[in-house]
Formats: sequence, C-alpha cells, structure tokens
Amino acid sequence: MVIKRKSAEKSIAPKADKPAAPPREFSERIANLLVSCIRGLKKSLPVDDELAKKLKDLEAVVKKGVRVSPATELGKDIEEFFDRQIIKQQFIEEEKDIVKTMVLEVVDTIKSVMSTSSGFETNIAECVENIESADNIQDIVRLKDSFVGEMQRVRQHSRTLQDELEEHRKNSIILAKKLEQSEAQALVDPLTNVLNRGAYNLKMGQMINEFKRYKEEWALLILDIDHFKIFNDDYGHQIGDKVLKSVAGTVRNAIRISDQIFRYGGEEFVVLLSRVDAKIASQLAEKICREVERDYFIDDDKKLKVTISIGAAIVGKDDTELSLFERADKAMYRAKNNGRNQVVMDL
Ligand code: GH3
Ligand code: MG
Ligand code: MG
Repeated sequence: MVIKRKSAEKSIAPKADKPAAPPREFSERIANLLVSCIRGLKKSLPVDDELAKKLKDLEAVVKKGVRVSPATELGKDIEEFFDRQIIKQQFIEEEKDIVKTMVLEVVDTIKSVMSTSSGFETNIAECVENIESADNIQDIVRLKDSFVGEMQRVRQHSRTLQDELEEHRKNSIILAKKLEQSEAQALVDPLTNVLNRGAYNLKMGQMINEFKRYKEEWALLILDIDHFKIFNDDYGHQIGDKVLKSVAGTVRNAIRISDQIFRYGGEEFVVLLSRVDAKIASQLAEKICREVERDYFIDDDKKLKVTISIGAAIVGKDDTELSLFERADKAMYRAKNNGRNQVVMDL
C-alpha cells in the first residue's frame, strides 16, 4: 500500500517547467467526488453491463491511490442525484409497461372479434345459400327471419366492440395526458428522494383501475410523523428536514421492491403495498412502524428519535382514489387518538 502511494506520488511529481502538483488533500477530495460519481453511475447500470464493469475497475484504481473517506455533502448530493434519476426512471418504465399491456389488450379484443365475426359471415353466407335454394314462401319467410336475427346479432356484437374500443381509447388518452404531465414535472421529491404527490396521483388512478380489472387486493398506508411540530420547535427546521429524509429512507428500506413510498406532503407519506390482504398489510405496516421507532438520528451527541402513526385500508370494489384515501386517513387519526406510534387498520 505504502509502495503504491509512493509510486502514485512519483508519477504526479512536478517537473521543473510545470506548475506544482495540487496538495494531496485536494487530490483526495477530488478523488472522493469521483468515487461518488462512479458509485452513482454504477447504480444506474445493470450489474453485467460492460460500462459498469469498467467503472468498477476505475473505482478500484481510484481507491488504491487515495484514502477514501465518507462522502462529503457534495459527494452525497452527487450520489442522491443518481438515486433520484433511478427512482424516476423505474417509475417511467412501469408506466410504459402499463401502456404496453393496454395496447396488447386492444389487439386481443380486435383478434377475438375478427374470429367471431368470421363466424357471423359463415352464418350469413349459409342464409344466402338457403334463400337461393328455397322454393316455397314459408321457407323464404323463415329464412328471412333467421337472417334478420343474425343481422341483429352482428349489430349488437359490433356495438359491444365499439364500446370496448371506446373504453380503451378513453383510457389511453387519459394515460397519455398523465404521462405527458409526469414528463413535465419532477416525479421525485428533492428533500426526501422518494416519489412525490404528482407521481402518487398518477399511480393511484392506475392501481384503482387495475383492481377493477384484475381483482388483486392491495393496501394504502398513510404515515404521519408524531408531534413533528414540537420536534421542529425543539431542534429547528433544519434538523427536522434531516429527520424527514431519514424517515423516508427507513421506510423505503423496510418495504418490498414492488411497493412504493410517496411524500404526500409536509410530514406525511403514503405507501402502496401491492398484492396484500388485510393481515399481511397490517404486519408490514407494523414492521415499518417499529423500524422507524428503532431508528435514531445523532446531533451533537444527542440521540434524536421520532415515531409515526399509520392508518391502513385495503382497496374495495366500490373505492375511488378519494374514498380509499379517506378510509386510511380516518384510521390514521384513530392511531393518533389511541396514543400514536401505532398502526390502525380500517376494517
Ligand atoms: P401529530 O402527531 O398530530 O401529527 O402532530 P404534528 O405536530 O406532527 O402535526 P401538525 O400537523 O400539527 O404539524 C405538522 C408539522 O410538520 C408542522 C411543520 O412544522 C412540520 N413540517 C411539515 N413539513 C415539513 C418540512 O418539510 N420540514 C420540516 N422540518 N418540518 C415540516
Ligand atoms: Mg400531518
Ligand atoms: Mg404529524
């Protein structure tokens, strides 16, 4: 290690006519910022990506040459910038998948109609053939009736098809508009590095629609920090901000990859837990609550702690975005009234 350092120093030693090499401390700071950039970039690439492998090698080279210290404020800012990009990118990818599924569904609808409408064609062709071979009026009247019946079925069927296509068309217009808006607005909250209210609005609409279509239950949790006003009054807004960020991080680490956390506003967060029933949702919410309670924040040798209250509700067939939110919100207020630092399920 010592030898390597020496040779590194030798290679950057100033030549007589060149300006002096920057002081070691300066080089180390730059190298540490470079490590932050490399880490951020690496996270945004698949592990087996060629560039990711090269970046890993580069990181090893930089780390060999200098003492790697914990990231400075700027270093953390750089790493968090990449984190935000990843969260935003994942969210947009999911949106794209939903659009793809919708297009495929339209294609399926059209395909199924094509195959059934060819059934109609056969029936109608048979009618025409029979009319041609019919030689008495009763037969012709009977055939005419069956032809009219068949035509009615065709008309009815195409009306259903039109309704279905119209429904798909409307949904895709709404989704396209929302996607446009989401491209225009930042989806990630800059303070806490989790998805923001705009992303929440977008996701909720889809989750409600998907429940109607696929009937797979999911849960909405509202998390609110307890007595946060007093906390701010006691320790100041800046420390309050750091705690907000730390709570968001703790919750994000406590939930599964398929679940999402949003900063709904102020000191309130919403978590969407996919594919859970009331029992599992309650267990997961309890886990989040305990992790936040266990967590602490050091300031001037003082251990600072906060707790949260959680209200939870499971989506139901009659729910709208608003009704589900209201049920969870009421449950959250019951958790506050029962003494805070606890979970209440809306049952
Ligand atoms: P409760 O347990 O009933 O929720 O009490 P509370 O004090 O948390 O609730 P209240 O709604 O009265 O106050 C919320 C406080 O959250 C007010 C504000 O000081 C603080 N807050 C909201 N947004 C932020 C923020 O972005 N940063 C900081 N530091 N504080 C915030
Ligand atoms: Mg609140
Ligand atoms: Mg609060």
